[in-house]
Amino acid sequence: MSSGSRETYQTNELHVLTEVAKTLTAHQPLPELLTAVMARIVEVLEPAAFGVVLLWDPSEGVFRPQAMCGPDFPNLEALRQLSLQEGESVTGKVYAQGEAVILGHAGAIVTAMDNIRPANREVWSQALGSDRPLSSLVAVPLWASGYKFGVLILGTLFSQQAFSAKDMPFVQTLADLIALAIERARLESEALSVQEAERADQLRAEALATLSHELRTPLGTIKGYCTALLLGEISWSREKQHEFLQLIESECENLETMIRNVLDSALIDVGRLTLEYQPVRLERLAHEVVDEMQVLTNIHHIVLDFPADFPLVDADPARLKQVFRNIINNAIKYSPEGGLVVIHGQVRPPDVVISIADQGVGISPEDLIPLFEKYFRVKSPTGYHIPGTGLGLPVARAIIEAHGGHIWAESKVGAGSTLYFSLPRQGLSVTMEPDHA
Ligand code: ADP
Repeated sequence: MSSGSRETYQTNELHVLTEVAKTLTAHQPLPELLTAVMARIVEVLEPAAFGVVLLWDPSEGVFRPQAMCGPDFPNLEALRQLSLQEGESVTGKVYAQGEAVILGHAGAIVTAMDNIRPANREVWSQALGSDRPLSSLVAVPLWASGYKFGVLILGTLFSQQAFSAKDMPFVQTLADLIALAIERARLESEALSVQEAERADQLRAEALATLSHELRTPLGTIKGYCTALLLGEISWSREKQHEFLQLIESECENLETMIRNVLDSALIDVGRLTLEYQPVRLERLAHEVVDEMQVLTNIHHIVLDFPADFPLVDADPARLKQVFRNIINNAIKYSPEGGLVVIHGQVRPPDVVISIADQGVGISPEDLIPLFEKYFRVKSPTGYHIPGTGLGLPVARAIIEAHGGHIWAESKVGAGSTLYFSLPRQGLSVTMEPDHA
């Protein structure tokens, strides 16, 4: 090489490296980044007629093309069907040996591809066409920080442009740049998963702290009234004793609902919420829950409104009772001034729809969006604390959806809320014996 042509060659190398480095610093997802860089290489590196980056997929144990470019080959995209095993063809061998190779003429390429499986050979000939044999190939393993990612392959079409040993250091530099970009993407995705795991841990710890606090609140009240009743030096009137016992009962009820929601929520998380279907009379279930709840409040009036011919549904009565408990309990809790709570049943074929309406504090449109999310609680504008875990509605939603139904809410701040849920009737035969007949 004369000193003039050596200089031109080096200037060209510098130009290619600058262009490739510029492309690699762009912030975009790895597949797009590699596609852009391959396009740049084939565009600016004169002898290369096509290039492909094949990455090792450890989950499937194969190499797959991740990015490719070769404007002279109209079917190059066919390479996407390539799936090379360990040690197979040029890619497999170069990756296994960890060393770059130059195949400087067509015969060397044929020999290096001797063990390629027929389906992959077919893909190659479809992609490159049989009328334009490659004059040379260079294949370089992609390594960074001790990780091997795959192989970069560049090919030429004309023998006068074939790759030779003098091209090797430069192609190696290109491969190192590409490997660094892949390593950067790997580290970014690792950092992201660590961040996500930390965030999930933090949320779990916060939720646990709130939960323990909320569970301790009714316990404190129960203990306080028990201590008062047991005080030897005070003799409480029968009415006072009755009042204390009622408060204890109400707090026990709260505690039971919360613990049941915590346990159900854990079952839902691990996908173990099971349903035991049977024919159910929803108005009867609602009635039972209303009886439980009405004794806990004398400022709320809870009424049922079901048509006489309300149909049976196929459902799990214990789980649906929990849904009624959670929603009616909320209707009472979030109506601190008292008022009417109306439970209405209607048939909207092919479903039945139940609504529970209260005259309480209501929910703003922004808070209606995350209402059914785990641990979501509306921040009280008055600062007045109403005990709760933020699990009642998510548990209700999981139970209703497991039945194939839907749950939703309508509300206006200061004007009360209505919670709705629908359940499919699932074509029950009317002759089936209901559990709560
Ligand atoms: P919690 O144990 O906090 O009551 P839920 O999941 O049952 O948990 O409800 C989530 C939040 O939704 C509650 O903290 C409350 O802010 C709001 N909410 C639920 N039902 C009503 C209602 N009927 N009226 C007003 N706000 C409600």
